[in-house]
Amino acid sequence: GAAKARFIANNPLSKAQHELAAGALPGGNTRSILHTSPFPLAMKQGKDSYVWDLDNHKYVDFVGELSAGLLGHSHPAIYRTIHHTLTETGLSLGATTTHEHAYAELLCARFRLDRVRMANSGTEANLHALAAARHHTGRRRVVVFSGAYHGAVLSFGDGVAAPNTVDREEFVVVPRYNDLEMARRVIAGVEDLAAVLVEPVQGAGGCIVGGREFLVGVREAAREKGAVFILDEVMTSRLAPRGLGVEMGLEPDLVTLGKYLGGGLAFGAFGGREEVMRVYDPRVAGSLPHSGTFNNNTLVMAVGKTALGEVYTPEVCVEFNKKGDRFRDRLREVANGSRLSVTGKGSLIGLHFTEDGMQEITCGEDVKEKARPDLRDLFWFEMLEAGFWVTKRGFIAMILGTPHEDLGDFVEAVKVFLERHQAIL
Ligand code: PLP
Repeated sequence: GAAKARFIANNPLSKAQHELAAGALPGGNTRSILHTSPFPLAMKQGKDSYVWDLDNHKYVDFVGELSAGLLGHSHPAIYRTIHHTLTETGLSLGATTTHEHAYAELLCARFRLDRVRMANSGTEANLHALAAARHHTGRRRVVVFSGAYHGAVLSFGDGVAAPNTVDREEFVVVPRYNDLEMARRVIAGVEDLAAVLVEPVQGAGGCIVGGREFLVGVREAAREKGAVFILDEVMTSRLAPRGLGVEMGLEPDLVTLGKYLGGGLAFGAFGGREEVMRVYDPRVAGSLPHSGTFNNNTLVMAVGKTALGEVYTPEVCVEFNKKGDRFRDRLREVANGSRLSVTGKGSLIGLHFTEDGMQEITCGEDVKEKARPDLRDLFWFEMLEAGFWVTKRGFIAMILGTPHEDLGDFVEAVKVFLERHQAIL
């Protein structure tokens, strides 16, 4: 009540902007996740690891563009590359360029892929990977997991739209993530199985970490059926220098990528075993077409290569995720004994408010019945007031350059919040 009233009073320009924008955009914006009640904040500027809203409040940016903003808002190497590429090469040349090849080489080397192809988003990467798997196996159906988010038309979680532009009949959803017995049973029972698609950490599903035994078991179950095992690393490739699949020894057939790998620009990619990726080779009879005007956009190729090759080097990646682990440990310490639970891995963090403040969350179903959206909303309003931009669902995607002091201040703000509302938390 009171926190929401203050939010409305403090953000008149965001409120007016929302009402105006709804005249041109249904709901006032183009990304469903960005809609929040009573209205979303409109941002006017980002710099380094901060954002400013229309009403001129400054925030530490913990949204991190849902993990695509890993490099922050104004990394000098990214600016330099954009400027240099624009002047030297131009925007988009309607042709392959050396930038495309150079970035492909780097992606293959870093994430141990035989071959890779570029796309414009993580959604596209997954759709194309599924097309490749179907073409390769000559089969149709796909197993996914409850709580999974593989893109705008490939979401299988609660509170996000069910797939409405893909044929639902083709997807079989395992009702619980991290439940190997159940996964084995479901996978074994599916006829015409082309692929099993899984996130090593369910990102949008609550930042829930997949166990190694579970993920390896799922791979084995897929192999037994002759299906393609696709690891969605759109979010998790940032968690280890070669991605989480290599780090955990998951040996996927295909990997899908995106987010920060475009250096902040629109990007997706998918790749893996030559035997499967060969379906896209136009020199092979019966090959699969894969088009997209912006697939190899010059600017994105150049900027992506800088992002991965010069900025997010293996050493930087390791240090950054250690910083994330320490941050999560400190949050867990202050949350201990309250209704707040902290999940995630490395630089990806999930905050959950539940009836009993669960210590162990292994799948969305664990928290569904016990969720306390009222506490989550209160937390969100009060964190905004304290100067922290966090997604309403409690997801934090850390930004590389966020100063240690800002992380410390957030831990302190969470502590103060929990103490202030001790009676209900
Ligand atoms: N896969 C995962 C695991 C994601 O987290 C996302 C985006 O949040 C996607 C796919 C879709 O990527 P995009 O939003 O670039 O289409």
